[in-house]
Amino acid sequence: MVDAKKYALIDLHIHLDGSLSLASARALADMQGIALPEDDEALSRMLRVSDNCQSLNEYLEKFALPLTLLQTSEAISEAVLRLCRELAEQGLAYAEIRFAPQLHCERGLTQDAVVEAAIRGMKKSGFYASLILCCMRGGDNLQKNLLTVEAASRFLGKGVCAVDLAGAEALFPNENFIDVIEYAKSLSLPMTLHAGEALGSESVSSAIELGADRIGHGVRSIENPELLQILSQKKIALELCPTSNMNTRVFETMSQYPIRAFLNAGMLITINTDNTSVSATSLANEYQKITDTFSLTESELQTLALNSAYATFLCDVEKEKLVERIKSRF
Ligand SMILES: [Zn+2]
Repeated sequence: MVDAKKYALIDLHIHLDGSLSLASARALADMQGIALPEDDEALSRMLRVSDNCQSLNEYLEKFALPLTLLQTSEAISEAVLRLCRELAEQGLAYAEIRFAPQLHCERGLTQDAVVEAAIRGMKKSGFYASLILCCMRGGDNLQKNLLTVEAASRFLGKGVCAVDLAGAEALFPNENFIDVIEYAKSLSLPMTLHAGEALGSESVSSAIELGADRIGHGVRSIENPELLQILSQKKIALELCPTSNMNTRVFETMSQYPIRAFLNAGMLITINTDNTSVSATSLANEYQKITDTFSLTESELQTLALNSAYATFLCDVEKEKLVERIKSRF
């Protein structure tokens, strides 16, 4: 397995609710008196997609249980603490963990309270991380999304580093969220947008036009050679999540994954997990898969690790520290 510690690997795209380990799910359920299947296999089936996952729908079903478990301040704080500790144990140098505060308000929490709880858990862990707050694609949640942007602005630099737009891209394209995105830009919030996963390269192009600093996935940029040039010139990072893209059938096999074309185009591509629990993966595993499939060299691995450091939403000084840390390993 690729050594996460050796390469000082960084995960820039990891969802809290999709990365709840079995142990965390049990701990959160115990805290709240929620009954879970005693059999680990049965619990695992509730959190992970099967090997022959056929669709994004099946993939999204796996978020139901985690979200049920993450509706109190204590549970959210504990979940972030546990995830941070797991990432530290795996040897990651840094992570930007994302979640949608509005999905954690079913039992009365405000979005601000959700974010405060997450920051508490993150700080308690001692792990080097920041939070990205996701706005959600949907039909009637403009107010909730505006509150998410306001929470991000309030906590920017105090645990939060950016905003995102997540959810069903094909049903709710970027153009439906111009008000939210412009509001985030007016507050000078760094922004990554999920795009080019369920929809094609046109979704990535529109995300760039709307001011995205990074693209979540963006893998279908491969459909448009001109777009690859634009991404390369503007140094807009793609947050690639290979196993997740296999699960949701963006590609059928890893050999179709356009890593080589992206590298050849000089793009700032990064490797990430998306959802460690749903996809039953780890960051080291994602690097290993692409290394095996594309026979990546040591220097290509280092380039990918460095790309992630350059693409963080940290300030230049902090970025440079990560860059130096990675370079010192070689
Ligand atoms: Zn994602």
